[in-house]
Amino acid sequence: IDLTISNPDLIEIPKPRLAAPTPADYKYSRGYVAITAGAMAGASLLSAVAAQRAGAGYVALLGGETISGPMALVHRSWSREALADERINALVIGPGLGRDELGVQRLSMALDTSHPLVLDADALFLLSREGLDCLRNIQQPTIITPHEGEFKRLFEGISGDKLTRVTKAAALSGLVVVLKGADTVIATPDGRAAISQPAVSWLANAGTGDVLSGICGAMLARGMDPFDAACTAVWLHGEAARLAGPGMIADDLIHHLRSAFVEVTVAS
Ligand code: AMP
Ligand code: MG
Repeated sequence: IDLTISNPDLIEIPKPRLAAPTPADYKYSRGYVAITAGAMAGASLLSAVAAQRAGAGYVALLGGETISGPMALVHRSWSREALADERINALVIGPGLGRDELGVQRLSMALDTSHPLVLDADALFLLSREGLDCLRNIQQPTIITPHEGEFKRLFEGISGDKLTRVTKAAALSGLVVVLKGADTVIATPDGRAAISQPAVSWLANAGTGDVLSGICGAMLARGMDPFDAACTAVWLHGEAARLAGPGMIADDLIHHLRSAFVEVTVAS
């Protein structure tokens, strides 16, 4: 693979400004995020609660019957009808999906919808077995959020520095790619790219990536384009981690999202 990079203008993710809800808002206008659960529902739950705390007005966990969560989280049985609900503004799939036949089926049904997508974790693993065409065939606005290991499996053969690799991957897949790490880099198929400020290393623990995909879902669901949604989500995630501080676990990130929102919310 040798795509020529058109020298992307790398920017640092700016501090977002997010409008507060207005009196005219109602839960669905603030965004309906559906999260697909599978074999390991705990990770899906983290993603779902993060989407709630990131301002989505309605969050439904599809197919995670065996786990509980906040009372305000809607649990739906998995079905084609539940998945096809036209009110859904973004669908997050991957955290807790599993890599078994159930996961394969649910992923394939999710790709058949026209909902904007966030693909993470097991969805990326399963897609890496299908090859790049599978990514290229995705038509809806989509963010993928691989860590280094997931990225290598998905984009075998892409080499170079982090910016080069993520920019090539976005161009090849036609999707917005968030390559995670201490310095998360986000790239679009048309050559835009943004880098996060160095994130606190306490983020390196289980479940923090699941929280990020939920926040991405909430940002897509409120109507942002995938690049803005990804940049805003990475900023909020990094800020929540900074506020949570040493010893944090993924659950703490979710709690500190509220304080991160206080910093970026402007009157509408
Ligand atoms: P995942 O690997 O999917 O659980 O995602 C881990 C999350 O933690 C991502 O948002 C990464 O950007 C972040 N992360 C992982 N390692 C570090 C690190 N050493 N310093 C800062 N952030 C990290
Ligand atoms: Mg992950």
